[in-house]
Amino acid sequence: HLYNILQELRGNIRVFCRIRPILKFEAKSCIEYIGNDGSLMIFDPCKSQNTRKIFQFNKVFGPATTQGEVYKETQSLIRSVMDGYNVCIFAYGQTGAGKTYTMCGSSNGSCEELGINHMALNDLFQISSIREDIKYDIHVQMVEIYNEQVRDLLAEDGANTKLEIMNCSGNGGLSIPNAIIRGVQSTADVLNLMKLGEKNRAFSSTAMNHRSSRSHSVLTVHVHGKDISGNTIRSCLHLVDLAGSERVDKSEVTGDQLKEAQHINKSLSCLGDVITALAQKNSHIPYRNSKLTQLLQNSLGGNAKMLMFAHVSPESDSHGETISTLKFAQRAS
Ligand code: ADP
Ligand code: MG
Repeated sequence: HLYNILQELRGNIRVFCRIRPILKFEAKSCIEYIGNDGSLMIFDPCKSQNTRKIFQFNKVFGPATTQGEVYKETQSLIRSVMDGYNVCIFAYGQTGAGKTYTMCGSSNGSCEELGINHMALNDLFQISSIREDIKYDIHVQMVEIYNEQVRDLLAEDGANTKLEIMNCSGNGGLSIPNAIIRGVQSTADVLNLMKLGEKNRAFSSTAMNHRSSRSHSVLTVHVHGKDISGNTIRSCLHLVDLAGSERVDKSEVTGDQLKEAQHINKSLSCLGDVITALAQKNSHIPYRNSKLTQLLQNSLGGNAKMLMFAHVSPESDSHGETISTLKFAQRAS
């Protein structure tokens, strides 16, 4: 509760930057300095002139940061879902910068690095089991947005069902009432559904990796709580792995890939516009301009809490994309 009070004072939008480790085959790093205060200095090691630039976020996680350390800074936000707050967590960044690693973790046989999704679900179910004053019901939905179409990842024929987004005030908090919604009792239940979702996602495309970096995936956890005197709370947690933010060279792609790139550009820039409008406390918030912001409308703004992870690769080849990711994310903070 103290966290919620602090959060009120600081506003409901947080931006964390995460820098993944440099991989074996990558050359120079363009990270000059990471401050404890959320500042970050980057430069272009391939240019002779001074290219230093400073950015400021709520927090910067360097390459050595563990999944557990990242989750520790996210945990209170997750917990506030159980108190009735809507929460949105986004993973933003170019393909290969670590979005899926942060959200879903990685398992390479011997060691498993749990992602935020997994740790968040463990927390939600744990809170649900220890709180005696409130009885919780938890349900999930999982959709993707590809070329401005919403598809149900929990439906076997998900690729064929195009879902409509509704104003959720009349639908018990559901903005896509026609998407399959499943009751869940444990983290394992959700992970099984997520596996099904990933399978359905792959099913609709031959090049799975390509597709997964070109669509936004949204896992929504709906929480419904009822206390002894019959008062109810309804809230949801959206965990969003965004499409890769890299700019696609228009002279190099045509047809479907150009169309994908244009849809991604449009929806990410709409998301940026919404977040900027919220951060500036504008009276008009342009939710209607993309499917993603329409879908998340009830969880962006108002009392809802938002966290964006801006992912960057440290290597110098990505310097241009890194700058554009940091600029995008700084608009919000
Ligand atoms: P994205 O989802 O943004 O395209 P990935 O999450 O797939 O990127 O990450 C690209 C590669 O880098 C993967 O092999 C992933 O395991 C690795 N990676 C990303 N972030 C980290 C990290 N913080 N620590 C270790 N490996 C990471
Ligand atoms: Mg990914």
